[in-house]
Amino acid sequence: MAGPGYLRGLAGLLGSAVHPVTMSVRVRFAPSPTGPLHMGGVRTALYNYLFARKHGGEFLLRIEDTDQGRFVAGAEEYIKESLEWCGLELDASPWKEGPDGPYRQSERKELYRHYAEELIAKDKAYYAFDTSEELEAMRERSKAAGVAAPAYNSVTREHMRNSLSLSADDVQKKLEQGEPYVIRLKVPRHEEVRFEDAIRGWVVVHTSNIDDKVLFKSDGMPTYHLANIVDDHLMKITHVIRGEEWLPSAPLHVLIYEAFGWERPVFAHLPLILKPDGNGKLSKRDGDRLGFPVFPLDWVDPVSGEKSSGYRERGYYPEAFVNMLALLGWNPGGDVEIMSMAEMVNYFDLGRVHKGGARFDPAKTDWFNQQYLRMRPDAELGAALKERLEEQGIVTSVERATAAVVLLKERATFVDDMLEGTYLFTTGSPLKGNEEALAEARKRWKPATGGALRSFMDRLGSKPLLVSAEVEKAFNEMLHEQGMKIGQVMPMFRLFVAGRMQGPGMFDVSALLGRDEVMTRLEHGLELSKTWD
Ligand code: GLU
Repeated sequence: MAGPGYLRGLAGLLGSAVHPVTMSVRVRFAPSPTGPLHMGGVRTALYNYLFARKHGGEFLLRIEDTDQGRFVAGAEEYIKESLEWCGLELDASPWKEGPDGPYRQSERKELYRHYAEELIAKDKAYYAFDTSEELEAMRERSKAAGVAAPAYNSVTREHMRNSLSLSADDVQKKLEQGEPYVIRLKVPRHEEVRFEDAIRGWVVVHTSNIDDKVLFKSDGMPTYHLANIVDDHLMKITHVIRGEEWLPSAPLHVLIYEAFGWERPVFAHLPLILKPDGNGKLSKRDGDRLGFPVFPLDWVDPVSGEKSSGYRERGYYPEAFVNMLALLGWNPGGDVEIMSMAEMVNYFDLGRVHKGGARFDPAKTDWFNQQYLRMRPDAELGAALKERLEEQGIVTSVERATAAVVLLKERATFVDDMLEGTYLFTTGSPLKGNEEALAEARKRWKPATGGALRSFMDRLGSKPLLVSAEVEKAFNEMLHEQGMKIGQVMPMFRLFVAGRMQGPGMFDVSALLGRDEVMTRLEHGLELSKTWD
């Protein structure tokens, strides 16, 4: 398993733990507003949501903003909008008060001191008055003694200035004089911390590997660890489902629960999302390098002004994005891939979440979008296409855009891809000003093609409306008569009428354009060809 070596323990030997869910479930997503939500964060929120809905439980959101130094303006709003876009409805949050609020830690700050002091009273925590110079000196001493990772722990604390080493009177005096202090957890000396992670199985860590973490800082704020546990307890969280990066902190969290004498939630640490290529965690740099977003929505850094693109603005459907994310680290068994939110809720099982990292695949993400695009009603796509065309100055009706969608959607991953079919909406030859198509037509031109196209035009008759099957019939009869193969005439027909080599079938295209338009375009092409012979 990943994470520091000391976490290896029994995990893996015993396999994934099975925690039957009997209590009423309550989970939370607890982001820190330190920047835009990464798609890994969205997946964490999604798994919490699926788990809550599956068990008829509640899904809360708590903003963990105790570290004011890392606060980023706009990040909270971004988190809210991202979850809304993904359809992850919250039962309680800073924006939807519930019985256990407030749901922003900065609004709960009065609370934490009391809990830190409760641990001191229970002899599970202590005041530490050491200055940064003293801490540095301690690290130097440890290093000189050959300690690889110097720490404030059950050994070194004996030589530091804290309420365990100083007399009660001294401590009292320092507190009265307002000497700065932090509150540290008194980690027991020779113990094994063990817990069963719902995804990873048993995790066993010896306390000699855990330092006396600061729970309460000299600025009067709790650290992440204290606030997180106090809040999970007060908010009656039953399952803590979060990213693998928190696994190394979990043994410490178990110790804090034990120190308070509180029942702890079930832990479930989700696998990392890995780069599409190579090893390691997916980062924004990978997205920049390979050209895909790592954020759900566009983001502009409020300080640097740097812009990052999001799935929403790139034209992905939220359903496709969520479906793709759900399968990054979980699958319902079998080869089901396309799932509605209701189906995902129905199948979701923490026991089926993988232990190993999940490799992100941008091509697969596009594939999901393509599947969802195909499921959209043609009229809806038609309306969307009409809007996009209008942005380009092409005015059309929803009916016509919808008819075009029927031809274009098979080749599209995004609505924007259907803009390759603008020739279905314009009038006149698509060769005008189209150097690429002109060069292609010229390269392929053979005098016999001209005769073939003339014969084809004669066969199209005089009816203004064309029916695809009739166009096809006329084309085939012409080939037969001319003794030519489809490949000898079709490309030119396509270039003259559509101005490009790829696209939907030309008989359908002709039917949509109507006889007059097809004739005009062919005529124009033939006119141009006179200079090519
Ligand atoms: N605030 C932590 C984060 O930003 C939450 C970790 C947890 O879920 O316990 O990821």
